[in-house]
Amino acid sequence: MARVVLLAGGNTGDVKRTLQSAQQLVNDRVGAVLRCSHRYESEPWGFSGDRFSNQALEVSTDLAPEEVLDAVQRIECELGRNRAAETLEKARTGAAYVSRPIDIDILFYDDAVIRSERLTVPHPRLAEREFALVPLCEIMRGRRHPVSGLTVAQMLGALRAQSSEQPCGK
Ligand code: ATP
Ligand code: CA
Ligand code: CA
Repeated sequence: MARVVLLAGGNTGDVKRTLQSAQQLVNDRVGAVLRCSHRYESEPWGFSGDRFSNQALEVSTDLAPEEVLDAVQRIECELGRNRAAETLEKARTGAAYVSRPIDIDILFYDDAVIRSERLTVPHPRLAEREFALVPLCEIMRGRRHPVSGLTVAQMLGALRAQSSEQPCGK
């Protein structure tokens, strides 16, 4: 049994309902959801669009990391995520990120450090993302990043200290 930590978010459609469905499907297919944060709203990251709602989940799983990725990508697809349309939209706008009904990222998988073609764990941009660290802090503020050794609360503190030094927040 492993403990995997996911961040589910979205900014189109009935996001509250989609996140509830995602949580149910994760519970059915990945494993028991042990803890989940509230939903937190944030501005989109890397493009302009509707606000996102994000939720962190801790899940007990028998699946291997890439099997978790397969399962969450299937759930995204079933909940209306259309990667082909996103690719076209990215090409049209030149943005790295676009709106979507659901995105589920793997933040941690036990204390594993994975760098495969399909999967990087812990999530490589976690320390830069307040929208991920805030929900994570609610359910596991003392958890340490297996590479940096910083707790989730310390990562959030460091990010906030850094952005308060830069008035534009970037
Ligand atoms: P970001 O990863 O910056 O949050 P994104 O979530 O918008 O961007 P996606 O289009 O959802 O990116 O995923 C692109 C690819 O990222 C996936 O096909 C998957 O193979 C890969 N990937 C690598 N590491 C992870 C991870 N930890 N969790 C989820 N996907 C990952
Ligand atoms: Ca993401
Ligand atoms: Ca993703």
